[in-house]
Amino acid sequence: MSRYTGSVCRQCRRENIKLFLKGDRCFSDKCSFDRRGYPPGEHGQKRVKVSDYGLQLREKQKVRRIYGLSEKQFRITFKRADRQKGITGTNLLSLLETRLDNTVFRMGFVNSRNQGRHLVQHGHFTVNGKKVDIPSFHVKKGDIVALREKSKKIQAISDSLDAIVRRGIPQWLEIDKEKFQGEVVNIPAREDITLPIQEQLIVELYSK
Ligand code: SF4
Repeated sequence: MSRYTGSVCRQCRRENIKLFLKGDRCFSDKCSFDRRGYPPGEHGQKRVKVSDYGLQLREKQKVRRIYGLSEKQFRITFKRADRQKGITGTNLLSLLETRLDNTVFRMGFVNSRNQGRHLVQHGHFTVNGKKVDIPSFHVKKGDIVALREKSKKIQAISDSLDAIVRRGIPQWLEIDKEKFQGEVVNIPAREDITLPIQEQLIVELYSK
């Protein structure tokens, strides 16, 4: 699978929004977007008129980058959302939020989705007592996501849990820091996803 290997901060500048891809650095004064909040490249500071297609494309790229998916993974997720009952855009966001790598990030075990994907792949988490090492695994209402016993001594996880106050836990999740586990108390509704996303633009893009 092709994965973007260039500068991570460049993606925030390209999408003109802080995507919070680098953990603690994103909250510090080292954040590149805070220092240079315009698109990268020689013509980055020029004003350009963006077409409807351009707006739709940028929105899709922004969301794809927030959740760290490849083009192929993103399109597969969209098709799945489209097949479900309900509003496709809301279904898409719900599917993205309930990925296991995002869930462990939202629960505060890690300080970025990238780190979440890495730790999930290395088998540090269980869902309902069974090891799951697939970042795209979707959690369901009532699932218990927990850190494995041998992983509890990882300092980066303890540090991240201590810093969760800064990000806050979304309403669809509950966390027990003492037990290193969290529960999915609900499937996220649209109002639970507070990221500045216009999912309708993505639906329009893929409906062409
Ligand atoms: Fe984006 Fe700033 Fe974090 Fe870099 S440090 S990934 S520019 S939010």
